[in-house]
Amino acid sequence: MADSAAREAELLAKVPTGLLINGEWRDASDGGTFDVIDPATGNVLATLASATSEDALAALDAADKVQASWARTAPRERAEILRRAFELVTERAEDFALLMTLEMGKPLAEARGEVAYGAEFLRWFSEETVRDYGRYVTTPEGRNKILVQRKPVGPCLLITPWNFPLAMATRKVAPAVAAGCTMVLKPAKFTPLTSQLFAATMLEAGLPAGVLNVVSSASASAVSGPVMQDPRLRKVSFTGSTPVGKRLMKDAADNVLRTSMELGGNAPFIVFEDADLDKAVEGAMAAKMRNMGEACTAANRFLVQESVAEEFTAKFAAAMAALKTGRGTEASSNVGPLIDEGARQDVHGLVAAAVQAGAEVVTGGAPVEGPGFFYQPTVLGKVPNDAQILRSEIFGPVAPVTTFATEEDAIRLANASEYGLASYLYTRDYARMFRVAEQIEFGMVGFNAGVISNAAAPFGGVKQSGLGREGGAEGLDEYTTVQYIGIADP
Ligand code: NAD
Repeated sequence: MADSAAREAELLAKVPTGLLINGEWRDASDGGTFDVIDPATGNVLATLASATSEDALAALDAADKVQASWARTAPRERAEILRRAFELVTERAEDFALLMTLEMGKPLAEARGEVAYGAEFLRWFSEETVRDYGRYVTTPEGRNKILVQRKPVGPCLLITPWNFPLAMATRKVAPAVAAGCTMVLKPAKFTPLTSQLFAATMLEAGLPAGVLNVVSSASASAVSGPVMQDPRLRKVSFTGSTPVGKRLMKDAADNVLRTSMELGGNAPFIVFEDADLDKAVEGAMAAKMRNMGEACTAANRFLVQESVAEEFTAKFAAAMAALKTGRGTEASSNVGPLIDEGARQDVHGLVAAAVQAGAEVVTGGAPVEGPGFFYQPTVLGKVPNDAQILRSEIFGPVAPVTTFATEEDAIRLANASEYGLASYLYTRDYARMFRVAEQIEFGMVGFNAGVISNAAAPFGGVKQSGLGREGGAEGLDEYTTVQYIGIADP
């Protein structure tokens, strides 16, 4: 116990507490600070400088001043910075994992998984940096040439959520570095420590001063408001909730900013009667319980074909009931706390309303008593199709199960949402997989797979889940703009 407390204190002492502007860590212009809390205990972990609007503009100024020189660096040089950053983050995996567990609450084993996933964006984009191809072709008329080249978009504002503190930052910073963009990063106020340590690591990896600026703040709008009004900004990349994303899109309209919006989800997890039910339960556990259900890709609605609903629900509930809640630093715990008391109340409100509407609690169904914001892993059966819990992003360890009769019903129910991010499909029939994938309106489909995130794949949604893709070759496009030069034949 004393050892782990000393290890935590030693790690926290490594995390810079200032704002990173033009390569220097500074206090806020008004001396303001805010506390970062451990959601498993309610204790203060660290106190950080809280950026003001003036600081945010100083960060944009720094980004703007180095944009031209940064854009001219050799792609290989940018690639090698990313590769070094990948190696440093990987070497320090235990530090990053523990830091995420402390500030966000996820179990250490999951935090280690996020370090591997988050670091992969640095490696993937280090490799993509040198493949930012254009084209040179003769016109269809056979006279003159078309030259198409890619350029960095310019200074970007990157806004990240609290649920995946490292991966959400690397998924934006790595392609921006690859493309030659400069950045102002604003992490979520609940979990800024990981971004602070990551930014220090990027500097160590050789990123020049001013390319990445970090303005953690207690007030998100104090940062985003003035920066988005400034014509020097060229792009905003946001990951977070749909309501905030909509508001930022409206703000972005004033300067016609490029936008990437990774917003909320309401993933259906569809189990057909021909599925391998044990594999479906395994996938359901991963898709539901990763990050305590606090993931945009979290399975939010379990749609199970009538003939196998009872068996699936019983097996799924047994697996959920066997989970152990506890502080993420304890090796025995596989479910951490929710991010704060408000989040826990929201989750419980959805459960209570579903039960009121006729759902039955198969396991769980209540907050865990004692310190921290823990909630019991919960399975609800016989959830009516019009229950609010099937329409809202639950963001907690709660699985509502509902049934369908035919493939057409499953498709109709899956599409009955304004969201279209991840979806999951369990069937042994490949023809059905293609048929359903064709008809469901989701940016991502997991086929007999409960975890689909991969740095090499384009992550993103349709409908109100957002615009743009992160990861894959598509991830680099978000940070480049196209210039066409029409060349007359000599
Ligand atoms: P949030 O929208 O509350 O906050 C996200 C970020 O936006 C934070 O940095 C926050 O400080 C900032 N923010 C909040 N209000 C703002 C404002 N008025 N102006 C500018 N910035 C503002 O979301 P959250 O609670 O941090 O994250 C959970 C949400 O994120 C869920 O809806 C989840 O689905 C979504 N999410 C989506 C993806 C994806 O890739 N699609 C990934 C992770 C999380």
